[in-house]
Amino acid sequence: MTAQPVARSKTVDIHTHMYPPEYIKLLESRTSIPLVRKVPGLDDPRLILLGAEVELLEAYTKDGPTSKPPGRPLTRHFASLEQKIHFMDTHGIDVSVISLANPWLDFVDSSAAGAMAGSINGEFSDMCASHPGKLYFFATLPVTAPLETILASIRNLKGLKYCRGVILGTSGLGRGLDDDNLLPIFEALAAAGLIIFLHPHYGLPNEVWGPRASGEYGHVLPLALGFPMETTIAVARMFLAGVFDRVPSLRLLLAHSGGTLPFLAGRIESCVLHDGHLVREGKAGDGRRTLWDVLREQVFLDAVVYSPVGLKAALDASGGDRLMFGTDHPFFPPLTSDEQGEWESVGLNAAAVREALGEGTDETAAVMGGNAVRVLRLEGE
Ligand code: URA
Ligand code: ZN
Repeated sequence: MTAQPVARSKTVDIHTHMYPPEYIKLLESRTSIPLVRKVPGLDDPRLILLGAEVELLEAYTKDGPTSKPPGRPLTRHFASLEQKIHFMDTHGIDVSVISLANPWLDFVDSSAAGAMAGSINGEFSDMCASHPGKLYFFATLPVTAPLETILASIRNLKGLKYCRGVILGTSGLGRGLDDDNLLPIFEALAAAGLIIFLHPHYGLPNEVWGPRASGEYGHVLPLALGFPMETTIAVARMFLAGVFDRVPSLRLLLAHSGGTLPFLAGRIESCVLHDGHLVREGKAGDGRRTLWDVLREQVFLDAVVYSPVGLKAALDASGGDRLMFGTDHPFFPPLTSDEQGEWESVGLNAAAVREALGEGTDETAAVMGGNAVRVLRLEGE
């Protein structure tokens, strides 16, 4: 009897971004963040996104090239599909679930947002159709538009074959994710079977980084700490507002392994149990669903945490069947080696999975791709 070839399980990247050319044009037209600015003497224009980058942007605008260029280089990796496919091939990634990078359409004029979302989701859909079975996408919602426009946009997603969910920032409609006005949107997404990929952008107020941050510490504090705390706060607010109980079929995929939620869920639970106000309101009593329940029943986590220590907390909190590999491409490119080769940031995340779950194990295969295939229905086209 001839041996059957062993089917290699798929590697799936569920956290990987792009800016379609139309979005980049929009950023080029702007004078406040988010924006793209050409800088004399540098090949790539600068992508300036974060509140923490404003000080450097202002200094650069005033002093010119004598001060540090703000933001990061906007390389071809952000807009080129060819480059995305090259990145996937270089890292052995079989399937990518692509999403618009932050800050999505959060800043777009209300009257323009619906059309812009339609056009961007159409572009993502076309990209996926050009590589059937290799690319899927999380769509973008026109969050500044009237509710009816947002709901219409969700209805339209049902006709997009490769759409598997939506990417959403923590500001929601502008007031955070515990805003009751979001409930019809959460209900519509849940009814359509669309998961929310929750991703940070705003971090924490600049003051918390101190006066030395913008000149001396680069992007480390806002990206390493601001982003994960933002996600943690957003989900904790949803939990306290009862969103998960009110929309039990809502499913969330949290960026960066849930920020610090796996590590802090115990402390959040203890604070709930010891809060006189919540106890008096009957919100801390027996029989309620805890944050641990929510993490195991309604939440999925990506594995973009760069270390087995954080990954083990994520595994303990949500379970190995709820964790999914990601790269965060095109962010965190190599700075000292060729960005067309292997990226250290990707290697760190893949190594963390192997270290936490074992080389060649079924659990590792599940996190590297099997879970995404099952949860996001990525089999076939
Ligand atoms: N990763 C992202 O997705 N966005 C950023 O702005 C930085 C890192
Ligand atoms: Zn990201």
